[in-house]
Amino acid sequence: MAGYKNVLAAVDLAGDMDEALQRAIERVGPVATLSIVHVLEPAYYYYGLEPALGTLPPSFEEDLLERAKTQLAEVGARYGVPSARQYLERGYAPAQILRLAEDKGVDLIIVGSHGRHGWRLVLGSTANAVLHGAKCDVLAARVAVPASSR
Ligand code: AMP
Repeated sequence: MAGYKNVLAAVDLAGDMDEALQRAIERVGPVATLSIVHVLEPAYYYYGLEPALGTLPPSFEEDLLERAKTQLAEVGARYGVPSARQYLERGYAPAQILRLAEDKGVDLIIVGSHGRHGWRLVLGSTANAVLHGAKCDVLAARVAVPASSR
């Protein structure tokens, strides 16, 4: 798998992707540039909060941002990714991952085969959208599903 120079790994910070991410990074081998990205999606994407957004404390999203930044920094430290290449974006995850990959001239995107959106999908929604929208290669690292969850 050698030959990639500019690799972007998409992390959903859910935790279960870590082993897959590590395996994928090791398989790709040493690259000149490794970046990581997490996309903070609007809370209502997950929690159905849209109608209640007006009642949320103003600090709600800032808290999420701060927490995500800290978690992303921990992932970055684990894989030797400097803070300048730890991207925290906001919006719709597949669109932001694809946009960043193009902006940075990435030649390989690493995603987990599925994340928190549901292990029942063989290829989850974000992975699927990235795979179909990318203009570069995509490596979908298989995230193991605990037997108890099958
Ligand atoms: P999903 O398709 O959403 O189940 O997630 C599959 C993979 O897409 C995850 O393992 C991550 O690599 C990536 N991914 C999902 N959500 C995000 C996110 N918010 N930010 C960055 N990457 C993500």
